[in-house]
This record gives sequence, C-alpha cells and structure tokens, in this order.
Amino acid sequence: MKKIIIILIILSLLIGIAFSIHRDHKIEKAIETLIIRNENMAIGINYPKSGISILDRKIKVQVDQIYDEFMENYGVINTKTESSELNIDYHYDLVSKRYINIVLEKFISSNRLAHPINQIYTYVFDSKEKRFLGLEDLITQTELDRITPKIQTQLLKQYPECFDIKTINQKLTPTFKSFSNFTFNDEDLYFYFNQNEIPDGSCGIIDISIPLDHINLKIDDLELGTETPIETKVTKEISKIIDPNKKMIAITFDDGPSKYTKDILKILSKYNASATFFVLGNKVEVYDETAREIIKQGSEIGNHSYNHKWLIKLKSEEFINQVNQTQTIVKRITGYTPRVLRPTYGSVNNTIRENTNLDIVLWNIDTLDWKIKDPKRIASRVIGKVDDGDIVLMHDTHKQTLEALKIILPKLKEEGYQFVTVSELKEARKIKEINESQPDPD
Ligand code: ZN
Repeated sequence: MKKIIIILIILSLLIGIAFSIHRDHKIEKAIETLIIRNENMAIGINYPKSGISILDRKIKVQVDQIYDEFMENYGVINTKTESSELNIDYHYDLVSKRYINIVLEKFISSNRLAHPINQIYTYVFDSKEKRFLGLEDLITQTELDRITPKIQTQLLKQYPECFDIKTINQKLTPTFKSFSNFTFNDEDLYFYFNQNEIPDGSCGIIDISIPLDHINLKIDDLELGTETPIETKVTKEISKIIDPNKKMIAITFDDGPSKYTKDILKILSKYNASATFFVLGNKVEVYDETAREIIKQGSEIGNHSYNHKWLIKLKSEEFINQVNQTQTIVKRITGYTPRVLRPTYGSVNNTIRENTNLDIVLWNIDTLDWKIKDPKRIASRVIGKVDDGDIVLMHDTHKQTLEALKIILPKLKEEGYQFVTVSELKEARKIKEINESQPDPD
C-alpha cells in the first residue's frame, strides 16, 4: 500500500511538473525554409514557427498564398532572359515572454515589373490567451484620437516626399482600421503602411515607431526595455592536425542553421571532420546555440547574406547591408567573425566583388541535396566524383543531407580524405604550394 502511495505521489508530482511546463506556454523558436533556384527564378522563403498551431497555421496560409500567386504570375517563363525573384522574410519579437510580434515581408521583383513589389503582413499574438490582438486591444479610442495627429506629423517629417497634409488627413483617420498593421517590442510601438495604402506607390513600405512610454497602454504586464544583447565568445574545443600533403575536401552547408545542424555536427565529429556553414543572419538569431556549436565543433561559419535575397540584384548599399548585418550577428552570438562569403544562388557580379573583402567561395561539386530526396543518390554525386581540393555544396536544412553524410564521410575517410573548412583548405594549399615551389635542400 505504501508503495502505491509513494508511486501516486511521484506520479502527481510528475503531472504537476508537466502541467506547470504546459502552463508556461513555452514558445518554440524555429524557422521554415524553402529555397529554389532554376534558370529563371530564385525563391527564398523563411518564415517562423512558434509551435502554437493557430499562429503557425495563419502564417503558413499567408506564405502559401504568396507562393501560389507568385508561381501563377511568374512561374511560366516566356523568354530566356526573363528572371523573377520571390523573397519572404520576417521579423519576430517575443515581448514579456507572452506577446509574439511578427512582421512578414514579401518582396517580388521581375523584369515584367517596372518596380519590385514589397508588402508586409503583421501579426500580434497573445500566447497566454491564445488569440490575435488588434490595436484596439492595446489602446483605447480616446488614446488613438490623441496619438493620430502625432503620427501624422511624424510621417510628414520623416517622409516628406511621400505625403502631403491633405492626403494624410483624409486617409489617416483615427480609426483602428487605419492602423491595422502594427507590432511592438519592449520599447516601441510600430506602424506600417503598405505601398499604395497611404503613401505614394514609389515610397514602398513605410514604418514609424512611437516609444511605448509616450502611450497609455491597456495592457499592463509589459516589461519594458529589458532585452540587451550580450556578446558571447566561444572557442574551438577540438584542435585538429591537417596534413597538407594528404588529400582533402571542404564540405560546405548553405542556408542554415536549422534543426538538423546539430545532428550534422555530431556526424562530422564522429569522423574527425570539420566543414563550413554558410549561414543566414536571420537564422543565426534564432539558432544561436547551434551557431556556437559550429565554432566549438571546429567548423567554420561563413556569410550567406541576411535573408537570402538574390545579391546580384541588389544596389551596392543593400548588398553591403545584407553582409554586414550577418557579420554583426555572428560576431555577437559566437564571438567569431566570418572570413568567407557565399553569394546566394551562387551568382556573383562586380557589385559583390567590389564591395566586400570577404573571400568569395563557390563550389565545384553540387550534391543537389535540396532536390534529390534519396540519400544514396546524393552520396553518389560525391563518392567517386570528388578529387583532392574540391569544395562540395550541401544544405544543412534537409533530413536527407544528414543521411547522405552518413554514407559519404566513412567512404571518403577510407579513401584517405581529410575533411577541412574552406579557410583551412586555402591555408593548406598555400602551404603545399610554398613547399612545392621551394628548391630541394640538397
Ligand atoms: Zn542559399
């Protein structure tokens, strides 16, 4: 009987723990990715997953709709020179461990369009009450009446080329409908206006922010100004000896980190291998722990832009921004500063070459692991095809890549290959060249 009681107590304790975990409505942070490149199209989609089904479903529906519309309008190719790009990116803020704020941003460019299309979609979700919030949940009508003139003045001041007093007074009335696109973080309330919504079409998306301490909020459980990013420093836990006279290859992974990266690192470690991970800045922000693991494992982090925009299509300042943002994030999160850049979709032009001092690294073996689902077929694109000094392209965003590595690594190790990072490859080859060019000592 005693035993049963003890078991019951333990059980109820366990249930209690399980419940308290559940009540804490833990919000999972993950990113879903889709990257496709063919002759005429570049598609780069990243959107968040919170683990909360109502929220995730709503975002997925929106992403699918954007994708379908894009394919319908730009998926059919008329001429050889035609090229179109779809990019979906997002910004995510969890405020006071409760309010999830998401801005989804659509970007479409095509030579069928005179100007690219930019559009944003905002979501404010209360994870405790499991419902979406409108601005009316945050402030009263009286407060909206009070702040609308302030917003109008600020818009005129910040975007004089996009507004005039007359249109702004006509279009931006103190109704909650006028301010349907908003988000907040622990410091500011943001309002967004889409192309053609209020501004002149050529002004693109407009956003303004108002400090939260200038507003009377209806919700009172916000912890304001709490998040300060701290720089972390991690060091390599493994030191590896590379023999410059032995065969070596550099395996590279693009588009991560993702939920598969940690397992990939484990397999690499098993074969004493390191690799190069060309990461996206927006993902490093989410998979920060994984990014640190990459460095600890002895692998290298390279830069693959912030959100996978087609870099050759960007103006130089936009390109610089994409690269620098990622450099800053990686440095802040891991303490490591990337030295190599892999341009998105493997396309390089002069804007890229002239505006970065990072080494541009492409590849010579493409595994097509994003397209081929069968790990054996992926492996067969490497085994028997690689040569000393090759750079292999893979993606740490797919399950089949992980499985293919389990075939590739033991086989190539048996053939005498060393698995090195791209920087190590460069360094080792330099050493080899120097050795070879030196005259014999005798
Ligand atoms: Zn990529």
